[in-house]
Amino acid sequence: MMDITKDNYYSQAAALEYMSCSQYKAFCACEEQALAEIAGDWSRGSSTALLTGSYIDAYFEGTLEEFRAAHPEIFKRGGELKADYAQAENIIKRLERDPKFMRYMSGEKQVIMTGEIGGVPYKIKMDSYHEGKAIADLKIMRDFAPIWNERARRRQSFVRYWGYDTQGAIYQEIVRQNTGERLPFYIAAATKERYTDYDIFGVPQEWLDERLEEVRRLSPHFAELKRGEGEPKRCGRCGWCRETKTITYIKDARELEDFYADND
Ligand SMILES: [Zn+2]
Repeated sequence: MMDITKDNYYSQAAALEYMSCSQYKAFCACEEQALAEIAGDWSRGSSTALLTGSYIDAYFEGTLEEFRAAHPEIFKRGGELKADYAQAENIIKRLERDPKFMRYMSGEKQVIMTGEIGGVPYKIKMDSYHEGKAIADLKIMRDFAPIWNERARRRQSFVRYWGYDTQGAIYQEIVRQNTGERLPFYIAAATKERYTDYDIFGVPQEWLDERLEEVRRLSPHFAELKRGEGEPKRCGRCGWCRETKTITYIKDARELEDFYADND
């Protein structure tokens, strides 16, 4: 197995050998799209929303100068930050005023570890790792309101909706394999509202246990698909599926009433 470092963490070779939290979630969403992404045939791209989060990540990581240099597109012609990044600056200033938030984000940054779940190699990269104490991950989002999950047919916390419980389960398990300690997982979150809201959320152990079981159960199949064994499923809804579709039959409009019913 290759050694995973910060220089090769996001490489194609690393993506082929190791699963990561985001790769696992990509497979859960659409197997074919996940494979296309690994092959380099498809990219979900970096939206402004993602870049705003990356800007704040870079601040906490202590690499904001490098980030600014690598992304000239975040500046207006006059040299000022564009609105989204000016807002990111304001969020940072607000968070700096809260000692507890800063303490949770003051662990070792971007710590990489590897291990295996369900016999499948995994790599993780933690935002803020407090050795022997806790794992914290930074999230920037629109707001903290529950989100309607059409597949689950109910409202969920943003933590579950975005699969941050799955992320916590994978991080906690890989850290446990490396250190023998099962650490609590926290989301250090801030909102992009006009007046930023922010909090530290502890993700309950029962959510993490439940998700880890699922990761154990599903990972071997995703690893098989990566080795070219078996047929990947198409979700029929994602960007990749839309971009590569051809009409095979005329649909009854009633199918639209049950958009998600056939896939879960
Ligand atoms: Zn798809």
